[in-house]
Amino acid sequence: MTNVKQNLEQIQQRMQSASNRANRKLEDITLIAVTKEVSVNRTNEVIENRVMHLGENRPEGLKKKLDAISSDVQWHYIGSLQTRKVKSVINHIKYLHSLDRMSLADEIEKRATSTKDCFVQVNVSQEESKHGLPYDEVEAFIDQLHNHEKIRVIGLMTMAPNTEDDTIIRNVFQKLKQLQSKIAAKQIVNAPCTELSMGMSGDYEIAIEEGATFIRIGTALVGKEKEGIE
Ligand SMILES: *Cc1c(COP(=O)(O)O)cnc(C)c1O
Repeated sequence: MTNVKQNLEQIQQRMQSASNRANRKLEDITLIAVTKEVSVNRTNEVIENRVMHLGENRPEGLKKKLDAISSDVQWHYIGSLQTRKVKSVINHIKYLHSLDRMSLADEIEKRATSTKDCFVQVNVSQEESKHGLPYDEVEAFIDQLHNHEKIRVIGLMTMAPNTEDDTIIRNVFQKLKQLQSKIAAKQIVNAPCTELSMGMSGDYEIAIEEGATFIRIGTALVGKEKEGIE
């Protein structure tokens, strides 16, 4: 049985150790509980343990949670977002982690009723299967967003490749950090780009060591209910 409270305590300890190793402050890292694989009940358990940043990756999953969960949760949308789904998602979330193309930015500009905090998703590892902008197109993309008043690029997001090799993972996170720092130094008005969304259940400690300010954790915190794996 998944014990959310115990999992959380262990994750928080590991976050603390990783922060210490990197000379960083734990308060500078926000834990997002990814609830995409679990029920409303399990999601409520997370909230009872005072984790108030929650992440979903599909419009249907988000809607189900929104309808059932009443509290001041900050919703993160972490999945790739189809343009035609923007309308039903964008005004319910605080953060979008998957901005990866101009057609999506245009639709957000049209549909959002207030400015959205967005991460540009970057495909650092160049894997065919992964979403996100190619690394060397990110700066030009952000430059082109200057007319989009509803979009505030607060940072960059990536997913590390699925590998056991920590060196490869660390290298991906370092590259994202380099790009983020470079963009932040430009001091673009609607793209402060101070944040880094990186690190999941298997690699969040490396991500923290390499500068993550938002980590997105699903299975290590809440398990996985849909597939019956406990
Ligand atoms: C599912 C998902 C996560 C969480 O993955 P876990 O390995 O279960 O922690 C994080 N980020 C994104 C974009 C995801 O789709």
